[in-house]
Amino acid sequence: MKIKVPTGMRDLLGDDLKNFRDLESAWKNSAEQENFSEIITPILEEKSLFVRSVGEFSDIVSKEMFECEDLVLRPEGTAPVMRCVLEKNLPVPQKFFYYAPFFRKERPQKGRFRQFYQYGIEILGENSPQAEIETLKMIQTFYGKLNVKFRFEVNYIPAEAELKSYESSLAIFYKDNEGQLSTNAKEKLAKGSILRILDSKEDKTLNESAPQILNFLSEKEKEEWNLILKLLTTLNISFKINPALVRGLDYYQGFVFEVVDESNTLGSQNALGGGGRYNKLSTQLESKEPISAFGFGGGVERLLYQVDFPAEAKKTKVGFICTESSEVETLCRLKDKLQVEGLIVDICFDFNLGFKKMFKRLDRMNFDYAVIIGKNEIDNNFYKIKNLATGVEVTILEAYGLISSLKILG
Ligand code: AMP
Repeated sequence: MKIKVPTGMRDLLGDDLKNFRDLESAWKNSAEQENFSEIITPILEEKSLFVRSVGEFSDIVSKEMFECEDLVLRPEGTAPVMRCVLEKNLPVPQKFFYYAPFFRKERPQKGRFRQFYQYGIEILGENSPQAEIETLKMIQTFYGKLNVKFRFEVNYIPAEAELKSYESSLAIFYKDNEGQLSTNAKEKLAKGSILRILDSKEDKTLNESAPQILNFLSEKEKEEWNLILKLLTTLNISFKINPALVRGLDYYQGFVFEVVDESNTLGSQNALGGGGRYNKLSTQLESKEPISAFGFGGGVERLLYQVDFPAEAKKTKVGFICTESSEVETLCRLKDKLQVEGLIVDICFDFNLGFKKMFKRLDRMNFDYAVIIGKNEIDNNFYKIKNLATGVEVTILEAYGLISSLKILG
């Protein structure tokens, strides 16, 4: 049986890889302009990091993590950043950005992979709505530059006591309407994962008449929520309030948001990214002092469905064709000279291949010129250079220099 790439994972090469790297540079530029520094954390983390932070009963932890002894392939980027800051006792505030792979054992479909990449930021030690405003503004500018059509959906998840009383009232509502719940939602209800029913697409109609989270905020939370909405409006950042938006991760508390694609190219996986405030994460991870925090993560693959970066100015590619093994030293010397001038140079070293096949190979690999060095050329101290697009060939003396000759050929 043929060995294939693992389910839900992809090889990246050619134009796909170029777009992937260009997006990375664009994200890096945006983040660095806003004073974020890059962070790279390990691909593997202790399982307990995510059990404690994302939540034991979340979909991610209960069924989507790839495990290897007591380590897991990280399913998300926020908890590892907080783990690092706490472990190293870094002073806050800190502003980090990343562009990195994550892993979730999900059913693969368009825009949903088992290895996927996220561009993200985490702001630690900032408790004012400054973090919310700065992040949404940065995302708006970033997507604006890439011509991506999107909308922000926003909501607010209250603190423990208020959230409990909201969950109780939701549970009563779902029990009263159990006959209308999907099988999935019934399971969630039985497990006590009440909030997760709000996310369920199958139960959308019923959810429209469910109790609304925003009616359960404390006075202080309402004040903060209204202030954030006011500041967003002042900055011309438009949004839609989505009371069913609860995110799937336990550490969120406070303002949460999602970036939803409006180009209609993504089908059901139309969330470009999401984030929110996670002030309780540090204490979930046993920090002595709580650290306020806010972050965002967006899916690279979903964005790349809609963004095409311009082609790069092509660098000249020169291929050496040589039939004499005794000339390896000369070839390498000439190759170095051309590379110093910024050209891409490769050598067809297969001395048994013959000229015709060597030319074919260079053509397939998009070379611009071939420099031919055979026995005749070596004996007489000259080279042949061929422009592979026009077929024009010139013979030059070694002393004349390759670069000058390439210029003549055009
Ligand atoms: P989350 O960490 O679940 O909030 O996801 C943030 C963003 O990452 C989502 O909005 C998607 O754009 C992207 N994402 C999450 N899971 C996947 C996946 N399995 N495959 C591709 N992209 C994903």
